[in-house]
Amino acid sequence: KAKAGGRNQVCFFDPSLQAEVNSRTSLLRDLRAAVELDQLRLLYQPVVDRARRVLGVEALVRWQHPERGLVSPAAFIPLAEQSGIILQIGEWVLDTACAQLSAWADDPVRKAWTIAVNVCARQFNEATFVATVEAALARAGANPAHLRLEITESMLQSDLDSTITKMRQLNDRGVRFSLDDFGTGYSSLSYLKLLPLDQFKIDKSFVDDILNNRKDLAVAKTILGLASNLGLGVVAEGVESAAQYELLATYGCEAFQGYLFCKPVPVEALPRQSSI
Ligand code: C2E
Ligand code: MG
Ligand code: MG
Ligand code: MG
Repeated sequence: KAKAGGRNQVCFFDPSLQAEVNSRTSLLRDLRAAVELDQLRLLYQPVVDRARRVLGVEALVRWQHPERGLVSPAAFIPLAEQSGIILQIGEWVLDTACAQLSAWADDPVRKAWTIAVNVCARQFNEATFVATVEAALARAGANPAHLRLEITESMLQSDLDSTITKMRQLNDRGVRFSLDDFGTGYSSLSYLKLLPLDQFKIDKSFVDDILNNRKDLAVAKTILGLASNLGLGVVAEGVESAAQYELLATYGCEAFQGYLFCKPVPVEALPRQSSI
């Protein structure tokens, strides 16, 4: 017979829901230890120009979990952001990327490459964000002009003044900013002109069907036109076919990233030559 537990007892009757809660709880526990246990990995994906010369790479984090295997950021970044663990993870990513930049300073090909690091709202909104980035650059002795930070439109929703101040402080030191997944959020065009941005990244969702869907093509063309009018560069993300690459190039896109050129790979597997 059913017996009432304590007044405040929470009961889960749905076993799949219970399983999900258990899995989330254990994931969170493991995630708290991931940085200390050295379980994070950075993969790098090249960004190329029209002539397929490598301009730089984007750093994409993975979690090498002892039982779950290689966990994708989609599966843990949201949890890391809610719990605040993203602050430690973000610092590890910045440190690792900056150390990589300084290791490449003597490489004849890679010394010219930039590394783009993804930053989420929770990190950016910390009062210490600028100091954290500066400290990572200083620890590694990396050139700030080779670091790019990828922010998203969601970051532009709260406290625009302090966002602009932080971006200007870092930009004054040489750090550049890209607006990632552009077109999927809620950017106000009046905000965009105020920000010291260097580049838009056309979201993969507009590239996927660009050959068949006139609306996706229209969005891509509009982003390219806006960038050109604002004096910004554009990277198209998720380019998987030569036809997508050629079409985007026809409309003035100057930088590309996607499986057509290279998947995200460990540093050892990055191309050695300057074009791919
Ligand atoms: P994003 O910054 O928009 O990164 C692009 C995503 O598209 C990456 O997924 C990349 O692997 C994938 N991609 C690139 N080219 C292709 C392609 O041709 N085809 C397909 N199917 N996919 C492609 P990934 O590595 O799973 O990262 C997902 C998201 O996780 C990133 O989206 C970024 O928002 C976030 N993320 C990754 N690393 C970090 C990090 O260090 N910090 C933070 N805060 N977020 C991160
Ligand atoms: Mg990105
Ligand atoms: Mg993106
Ligand atoms: Mg994306």
